[in-house]
Amino acid sequence: MSQGTLYIVSAPSGAGKSSLISALLKDNPRYDMKVSVSHTTRAMRPGEENGVHYHFVAVDEFKALIEQEAFLEHAEVFGNFYGTSRLWIEEMLANGVDIFLDIDWQGAQQIRKMMPQAKSIFILPPSREELERRLNARGQDSEEVIAKRMEEACSEISHYNEYNYLIVNDDFDVALMDLKAIIRAERMKEGKQAAKYHDMLERLLAQ
Ligand code: 5GP
Repeated sequence: MSQGTLYIVSAPSGAGKSSLISALLKDNPRYDMKVSVSHTTRAMRPGEENGVHYHFVAVDEFKALIEQEAFLEHAEVFGNFYGTSRLWIEEMLANGVDIFLDIDWQGAQQIRKMMPQAKSIFILPPSREELERRLNARGQDSEEVIAKRMEEACSEISHYNEYNYLIVNDDFDVALMDLKAIIRAERMKEGKQAAKYHDMLERLLAQ
């Protein structure tokens, strides 16, 4: 069996990253793709569940986990700490499962250095106006918070050229198809296919 592929997926808030990843996993009939659940020190939002959306921990606990080298990467994003669990990811990849990391550009830089074989995907909104419209449509935030999110979006987008793939999420179904196409193409790479079809290749080559 070949190792699973590690996919880094980044995007500004409102680009539709979480919805795309959820739709991708929902459409996947096998269990060979999973999304990593990060640790965070930020407060739980309504509708979120501990252990499902994040592992919600206190700052002290987060710092202890850093000391124990429990994170593959960690970063401070908008005043809160976020980290990706090392052990779970290493186990899953070794079992041939493709893993998706929903992380920011700082985490992406750390992972790329450590695991250059990871593939990174950046999701872009089609325009500033559309991004602002989507942030407003959530109906959760004040004008002030939305203005701040637009500023943060600009800073996240400025890192687009560090990624292997760019997807523009204008039409959701097209963006989902694009995401699936990337994963499918990665799975067809010679090394992956040669590991998967090792026995068949031996039989084909037998004299
Ligand atoms: P939110 O708090 O809105 O769920 O996420 C805020 C930002 O933190 C998003 O850009 C998200 O991708 C990023 N993020 C979530 N988990 C991690 C993580 O484990 N590491 C890093 N570096 N960023 C993360």
